[in-house]
Amino acid sequence: MALDDDIERILWSEQEISDRISEIASEISDDFKGFSSSSSSTPVLIGVATGAFMFLSDLAKKIKFPVLIDFVRAESYGSGTQSNGAPRISCDVKIDIKGKHVILVEDIVDTGNTLSCLISHLKSKGACSVSVCTLLDKPTRRKVEVQLVGEGKFYKGFECPDYFVVGYGMDFAELYRNLAYVGVLKPEMYQ
Ligand code: 5GP
Ligand code: MG
Ligand code: MG
Repeated sequence: MALDDDIERILWSEQEISDRISEIASEISDDFKGFSSSSSSTPVLIGVATGAFMFLSDLAKKIKFPVLIDFVRAESYGSGTQSNGAPRISCDVKIDIKGKHVILVEDIVDTGNTLSCLISHLKSKGACSVSVCTLLDKPTRRKVEVQLVGEGKFYKGFECPDYFVVGYGMDFAELYRNLAYVGVLKPEMYQ
């Protein structure tokens, strides 16, 4: 049985995602040009595991300055399609981010709860700026405004309609992360 069989519709193809990431990476490369010359100011890309692993990998390859890479894990979703409220950090970063410029890399921002929790956590660890780079954004679902830190910026790939999407790192019950595109599951897959 092929992985594609469960997908009703593709929203963004592998090529569309790749093209958009090239644009974001050059924007980030421009914005962070001044920070990369000494090791103490090397920016840190922090991926939110597991969903951001593919996006972080492709983005990092296209960024034209040295970066440190780490992951953080936050849990809020369980195995369904609805958030179960307050997220908790279940795996912290390893790198000391005190005084560093952080770019938090997310798969998708939905209610904003996960991001807000992570941003205040990274701020409390002494990051001097926190930017966010998310592949997808669902602004119509936002419950908490995303407060960046310092000179932080918000980068986004695409605005996502209010569907539960999978692929390109994003899961339903831990499956479909290895699709190279972002799509919508057939409704019968949720039942
Ligand atoms: P938030 O805290 O902003 O409501 O949601 C955060 C996390 O929920 C995202 O980082 C993502 O992992 C998951 N999530 C939100 N919307 C979707 C979606 O449409 N599909 C999938 N697979 N995960 C989602
Ligand atoms: Mg995520
Ligand atoms: Mg998930």
